[in-house]
Amino acid sequence: MTRVVLASGNAGKLRELAAILAHLDLALVPQGELGVRAVPETGTTFLANALIKARHAAAVTGLPALADDSGLEVDALDGRPGVWSARFAGVDASDQDNLRQLLQELTGVPNALRTARYQCVIVLVRNDGDPDPLVAQGTWEGRIAAAPHGSGGFGYDPVFVPHGVAGEQRTAAQLTPAEKNAVSHRGQALRALVAALASLSVYFRP
Ligand code: IMP
Repeated sequence: MTRVVLASGNAGKLRELAAILAHLDLALVPQGELGVRAVPETGTTFLANALIKARHAAAVTGLPALADDSGLEVDALDGRPGVWSARFAGVDASDQDNLRQLLQELTGVPNALRTARYQCVIVLVRNDGDPDPLVAQGTWEGRIAAAPHGSGGFGYDPVFVPHGVAGEQRTAAQLTPAEKNAVSHRGQALRALVAALASLSVYFRP
């Protein structure tokens, strides 16, 4: 079975990635279990940051590495927080801090103008110098609620109301993990990556 390091320390992401990939013949190991520390995300695009994380984890472990870089784009904020979603309220901000900052910046913005989307780019590199990483992307459209609801998911989920799901009456934090994974940006990206991995034995041939 091929061991792949998951280049993330975000517990919410790790949970979702592991659930979606559970049926594959891959042994996914979170980077923390292999002593890999978080690397500064100095890129200005999701793709650049995903590659930075994957290459770093591959370099430290010598294993193929899978990395996700994701974030929330809010139209009324000209696409912010985007790649800075995890650091919206400051470098060491918690999910709660970021969520509070978002609601504060959207004070007074009417419902119709609170459109937003989650973006996710997932990459898989065979090694740190891989010149041909597998890349997949997913987008999940929705809007930002006036107040948080629900305790599932992570990050901005308590204020993200997905379009076309549950009559748009529930936030992503009120969906079950299976409901979220079936339609989310991360679920879409990961399924696209898995489809591209149809030739897995070729991709990972020693
Ligand atoms: P990254 O580790 O730089 O990719 O940070 C991604 C950040 O985007 C997370 O810390 C969350 O703030 C936000 N984010 C990405 N995906 C999700 C999601 O599925 N739910 C809620 N927040 C998310």
